[in-house]
Amino acid sequence: MNDKTIGTAVITGASAGLGKIYADRLAKRGFDLVLVARSHDKLESLASSLRKEYGVAVRTLTADLSSDADVSKVVADITADDSVTLLVNNAGASTLGSVFDLSAAKLEEMNRVNVTALVRLSHAILPKFKARDNGTLVNIGSVLGFFTMPISSVYSGTKGYVAGFTKGLQQEVADSKVVVQLVLPSATATEIWEKSGVPVTALDPASVMTAENCVDAALAGLDLGEKVTLPSIEDAELYAAFEAAAMALFSASSGTPASRYGVTKG
Ligand code: NAP
Repeated sequence: MNDKTIGTAVITGASAGLGKIYADRLAKRGFDLVLVARSHDKLESLASSLRKEYGVAVRTLTADLSSDADVSKVVADITADDSVTLLVNNAGASTLGSVFDLSAAKLEEMNRVNVTALVRLSHAILPKFKARDNGTLVNIGSVLGFFTMPISSVYSGTKGYVAGFTKGLQQEVADSKVVVQLVLPSATATEIWEKSGVPVTALDPASVMTAENCVDAALAGLDLGEKVTLPSIEDAELYAAFEAAAMALFSASSGTPASRYGVTKG
């Protein structure tokens, strides 16, 4: 067990990829863990090795986050556990390809796992963090949340939602000590690529980060107090300029039709 000041970290999608590395790094920092995913055996095996290696308490929650009932089960579990101080909404599903070839089931899976589950878990835990003025929420988006390719319409749509939602939450907790971090990884070598239909070997190797580096950079960003962490983007000013352009565009709104539309004014 940890000393109670650190508390328990809940990590969704902890059976593989980034989530598995988050589990390792957070256990190393002394967090007890709740590991969530569908793959029961993988979660149990990870839990057992983390208990042994770091001496922390680890429990697993086998849940399909595309199922409303299972999301409710996770909500009930983590809101009943007052030791939870950190939630990493990391679980993600991706099927890449033309939306015309995408089955309704795959479309629903991305929306449910990437958006609905993340929103419901954030919505459930944040009031508890706010009430005790302590807690950290990490939501994993993607650079594909602000850039869409013809093969990523739905995935990019889900990650755009994650970004917009998480930036709103940041403003809602601004008057408290609660921390909300948005992490926007670029291409990272995990199983998600194979599952998405685009093998990671199809990418330029120089453009692909290791999962370890991605999580270590994301946690370093959290330690630095970054609200938005882009693990692989060297020039931090690029994102600042992007946000400034978004603000300028929003602020340019008016009640008058733009002249190029030739609509009668008044
Ligand atoms: P990954 O290796 O495929 O791992 C995905 C994790 O999510 C697994 O633990 C998987 O566990 C879990 N998951 C998927 N569907 C689930 C469901 N229905 N219910 C419960 N858990 C589910 O992918 P990753 O690359 O580590 O992705 C982690 C996050 O990073 C995702 O949000 C992803 O969109 C984002 N991201 C990844 C990249 C990249 O290039 N890898 C880039 C940008 C953003 P089970 O299969 O056991 O359920």
